[in-house]
Amino acid sequence: MQTERQRAMLRAMGLRVWAPLVTPDADPLPLPEAAAAAPPPRVVEPPPPIRQPAATTARTPSGAPASTPAAAPAPVRTAALRADVAGLDWPQLREAVAACRACGLCESRSQTVFGTGHPQAHWMVVGEAPGEQEDRQGEPFVGPSGLLLDRMLAALQLTRADDGPPAERVYIANTLKCRPPRNRNPAPDELAQCEPFLLRQIELVRPRLILAMGRFAVQALLRSDAPIGRLRGQVHRYHGVPLVVTYHPAYLLRTLADKAKAWDDLCLAAGVVRECS
Ligand code: SF4
Repeated sequence: MQTERQRAMLRAMGLRVWAPLVTPDADPLPLPEAAAAAPPPRVVEPPPPIRQPAATTARTPSGAPASTPAAAPAPVRTAALRADVAGLDWPQLREAVAACRACGLCESRSQTVFGTGHPQAHWMVVGEAPGEQEDRQGEPFVGPSGLLLDRMLAALQLTRADDGPPAERVYIANTLKCRPPRNRNPAPDELAQCEPFLLRQIELVRPRLILAMGRFAVQALLRSDAPIGRLRGQVHRYHGVPLVVTYHPAYLLRTLADKAKAWDDLCLAAGVVRECS
């Protein structure tokens, strides 16, 4: 049976259909308290060190390899960039991102999309790459998918507000700070080139948990080709920080049934944060 609190949380996520998700053979979706009381989730070993990927492959807007070679790719100098950003504070890091021309995405962006939220939040959400609206507004997760993310966070009494108690706050960033042209799939060298900025953001925030949203963010952070469905339900680590995988809100807007799985993921994440508190 669903409790009034469950119903309120599911309503906050925009999930109006609850009954079909509960069958006599299935347990009801756990509340965060239940997740906290459950046995410790399985922790997956950290990913291997950052690898230097192969040169850029040109892609069509759908992400398929293009038939013509890409324009000369920027050389991937992840280690050098990481050294450059080590020790930067928030304003310096924001300036470095805004001025970055380390990969070809700098040519087509309107502006960089740095990140938003509380600088010491206990939760950090990491998405994929800016879309058209993010590129225009300079903030990650705006528009309908951003609204759904805010609802999901609100279901756990979390917000992206940049003040207030860190335990109730989230910092949001993307793996890429510049929009790929026509929203094409991010290329591996672009993800590798941009990763030092995300790493420095994580070092500054020091979150208790990273919630990775969307296939490209998940696969880039975990160095995995596995689909999200195979990576969900376990606690990974990214540079020592517990990481939980879930679907991107844009996908959830198209796939109502998987909102229930996303709620499971949020419950798992909430349990991890509580264990760390
Ligand atoms: S995507 Fe990242 S690495 Fe590439 S230009 Fe933008 S900020 Fe620099």
